[in-house]
Amino acid sequence: MKLEDINKIFHVRGASQGTIKLGPVVSADGDLQNDEQHHFISHAHTDHFRRKKIWNTWDIPRPIIATTPTLKLLESYGVNTSFNHQLVVNQEHGKVVKYDSGAKVRLLENNHILGSVQIEVEYEGERFGYSGDFGENIENFIDVDYLIMDATYAGKPVNKIWSREEAMSRLVEEINDAIQTGPVNICAPSGLLNEIADSIGHSGFWDEYKNVISNQIIKDWCDVYREYKYKQPNIITEEDNFDLYREILDSDKYIRFANRTRDFKRSVPDGTTFWIENRNIDSEEPIKQDNSESSWYNVTLSSHAFSEEIFRYVTKVKPKYIITDASRGGTTAQELERLLKLNFPKIQIVSSNLLGY
Ligand SMILES: [Zn+2]
Repeated sequence: MKLEDINKIFHVRGASQGTIKLGPVVSADGDLQNDEQHHFISHAHTDHFRRKKIWNTWDIPRPIIATTPTLKLLESYGVNTSFNHQLVVNQEHGKVVKYDSGAKVRLLENNHILGSVQIEVEYEGERFGYSGDFGENIENFIDVDYLIMDATYAGKPVNKIWSREEAMSRLVEEINDAIQTGPVNICAPSGLLNEIADSIGHSGFWDEYKNVISNQIIKDWCDVYREYKYKQPNIITEEDNFDLYREILDSDKYIRFANRTRDFKRSVPDGTTFWIENRNIDSEEPIKQDNSESSWYNVTLSSHAFSEEIFRYVTKVKPKYIITDASRGGTTAQELERLLKLNFPKIQIVSSNLLGY
């Protein structure tokens, strides 16, 4: 069967939608397109679900399905996933669930953020899968013939000689040093920020620096991560407690959390800033002082797999067909297609933007 021939049952819809179709009855992320019966959300990053689309889905009698932590994290974006809502289903990691449509679905951990999953769908004897955004060191892999792969890092080789664990512990050391001399700002994507908070917290750091200033979404994420035994600080927001927020900001030592640099009202805030950017891993050093701003450090930690880890993923899943997901950019998806073809000549591989979606 040619890749073009399976378009109808297996495709990714372009950048604006990010819909991953897994056979005729299942959609993942993005939105529902036609008559799919199930709408899975792979994880709670905003580039993978469309709040408005989820609201649209409420109006048609088809369930939203995700893991419990993902459903809880979605609530921080105003998606009401209260568990008595008849259309919301929480599906546990690892469990095979057979739905009325005939689809058998399994969600497996993929080491990206809390609640994130790979999705495996079996329908009428065919097996479809989506990697989701995936991280390093996955233990259990989906077993599918047709695989849609996240292409964030495009599989390009990197020069790094440090492990994620080493980078994390160096970052924790640097933060401990920096707080001795003044305020510290930690800016990282959601999920990764919470993991960093957990690592800092293992030495009792949050007993000393109880209150961290930030915004409501970060407060909500910290609350959910804390429920799952991650060490998280108490977040003070300007909206909730203006006086305390200002008092902390006027003090000489405090920690501030942000997800994006634009969350700082000034481009370079007071104190030392650690900017952890998910994509920038092509570096020999995990933490680098910025060339033009001495109080600013660029940190190359990531929640995504790259390079050899991407190839290991394909080796373990053993698909016959791969579509690289161009929802977040055709260039990386085509680059990943090229590299996978070199490494896996027997697998049919194409980037989704070349399929006309
Ligand atoms: Zn993600």
